[in-house]
Amino acid sequence: MPPIQDPCMNETALSGQPELLNVVLDHLPQGIVVVGPEYEVLAFNRTVDVLFNLSGGTFRIGEDFREIIKIWVNETGQDEAMRSTALARLAHREYFKVELSQWVRGEIRWVLLTHNPLPGGGFVRTFTDITEHKRLEEKLREISRIDSLTGLLNRHTFFESLAGEIERSKRYGRPLTLMSIDIDHFKLINDTFGHPAGDRVLREFAQALLSCMRKCDHLGRVGGEEFAVLLPEMSLAKAVEAANRILSMVRLLVVNESISGLQVKFTVIGVAETHGNSTFEQLVWRADEALYRAKREGRDCYKTME
Ligand code: GH3
Ligand code: MG
Ligand code: MG
Repeated sequence: MPPIQDPCMNETALSGQPELLNVVLDHLPQGIVVVGPEYEVLAFNRTVDVLFNLSGGTFRIGEDFREIIKIWVNETGQDEAMRSTALARLAHREYFKVELSQWVRGEIRWVLLTHNPLPGGGFVRTFTDITEHKRLEEKLREISRIDSLTGLLNRHTFFESLAGEIERSKRYGRPLTLMSIDIDHFKLINDTFGHPAGDRVLREFAQALLSCMRKCDHLGRVGGEEFAVLLPEMSLAKAVEAANRILSMVRLLVVNESISGLQVKFTVIGVAETHGNSTFEQLVWRADEALYRAKREGRDCYKTME
């Protein structure tokens, strides 16, 4: 932020008018507290009170800042480790900044704290409410993980999950099955009924898929009309039952369109299992091979690869 150029706001003007300085401090959006060499509070503004909402006007001139920290720990849902860290940080003679989450008025609020040591001992701390920024960050993270059309994991996130599950399967020698799914003749749906109708088919197909999978399964849209399902702790035999369920469900799926009743008739599924003995590439390759076989050997079916 550029320095304030207003001549009325220079140091001399303000130091001659301490009441004005207080007014300015109280209207800053950042909380500020100045603490002396013996941890005594020398100054603070109204914003810190609002930000932390501690009981009984905890911020007071002359108050021991360590006592304020203890109250903050008790009242904002911090644990013992945070209590020790917060107290230890008071002695830091270097600038630092840290993000803190805390319970205030029944909700999680985030604060960015900066610690600025003073030459003769003590420090100035600033506190900025970054809750909205954090929420936005979380939303963006969520959006970047999800396929916006269907709400399933997008390709990137799905393959990240796959890599993680393969590692787990290897470490514990547990079964893991991957299904590659392709809607057949999808281009024909687009060409016959239009792109929006195709979109609707993709959305309804994804919903139907979700409805017959477990909570722990990972469902992704990995291409235009290509989907994948990752089934942790599931052997090939069990996954075949799931593949049959998907096929039966899709046979019944009718997507209502104003033009006509639109049915997604064909789905092919390739199923491949690893028992902690495949690499990422091998498992994906085998599921895709099974998919191509299902496509070659008559659609509306699944094929497996041991
Ligand atoms: P096959 O039976 O061999 O699988 O052929 P297909 O028609 O299902 O698949 P193909 O790969 O020939 O065409 C896929 C089509 O999917 C082409 C593309 O325009 C369409 N597509 C890709 N993404 C979207 C999307 O987000 N919405 C819609 N409506 N169509 C999409
Ligand atoms: Mg395809
Ligand atoms: Mg297809």
